[in-house]
Amino acid sequence: MKVINTIDTMQSCSREALSGGRTVALVPTMGCLHEGHLALIRRAREEAELVVVSLFVNPTQFGPDEDFARYPRAGDRDRALCEQEQVDVLFEPGTDEMYAPHHSVYIDESGVTPLLEGQSRPGHFRGVMTVVAKLFHATQPTLAVFGEKDAQQLWVIRKMVRDLNMPVNIISVPTVRESDGLALSSRNAYLIPEHRAQAVCLSEALQQAEERFRAGERNVYVLRKAMMDVVESHPDVEMDYIEIVDEARFVPVTTVLRPARALIAARIGGTRLIDNRLLNEAAGRP
Ligand code: AMP
Repeated sequence: MKVINTIDTMQSCSREALSGGRTVALVPTMGCLHEGHLALIRRAREEAELVVVSLFVNPTQFGPDEDFARYPRAGDRDRALCEQEQVDVLFEPGTDEMYAPHHSVYIDESGVTPLLEGQSRPGHFRGVMTVVAKLFHATQPTLAVFGEKDAQQLWVIRKMVRDLNMPVNIISVPTVRESDGLALSSRNAYLIPEHRAQAVCLSEALQQAEERFRAGERNVYVLRKAMMDVVESHPDVEMDYIEIVDEARFVPVTTVLRPARALIAARIGGTRLIDNRLLNEAAGRP
């Protein structure tokens, strides 16, 4: 596995692969890799000949009161895991390499980023889109793999690629979960055992919504209330939002008439966690 730290070297490496007729897959991560990230890497391995994993904790997607400084970092372990997964290139640029002094160009989206994660984390998606676009320019991927765990991020990236005509195929991978249902996240490491036990209520709330949906409930008020009841029975969990959005347009709906996605964000003892689940009549039917 090659470890590359500069954009120039990364671009030459990808150009060489592409000119030799090889496809390039990018898996963007902020490191502290877990099985969710590894599922993305394995999918990339199936899809392309040169697999590039980027490891960069992007400062521009964190708000001033967020956890950028204490975000978990595990460089040596991440490198070993990538090696084990037969990653070809680990792209690990420093902050100055990605954001040269006086960097002042950002990408924005005006349709869905003011809502949900964007409302709770102003500027977050501007930082995400900017860094993803920069990583695309650095690695020149044929395809890039993202997790459904960050459903709004996935939607926004697909929209950026479409609206800005970026020649990258976006592939998504289902959320990898612990055996009790908690979605894997680098931030789970912050949870003390008491809070870890309560964190499962996010996926339980989503499961509750899906069960009601499968039983025929289509009224979003009722579905949200069912989710809130699950969350509110956990004393240390402070809800940020519970919403149901149209899967195609990512805007909140009042009745589920087409495939939709239930979304939840909550804080547990200072740790902010998110999760989501597809509500789709057709899914799971023979
Ligand atoms: P992060 O390192 O948190 O920025 O995440 C990097 C990529 O991994 C993103 O595309 C995430 O959506 C994806 N990811 C994070 N957690 C999971 C998970 N539990 N299952 C699948 N993908 C995930």
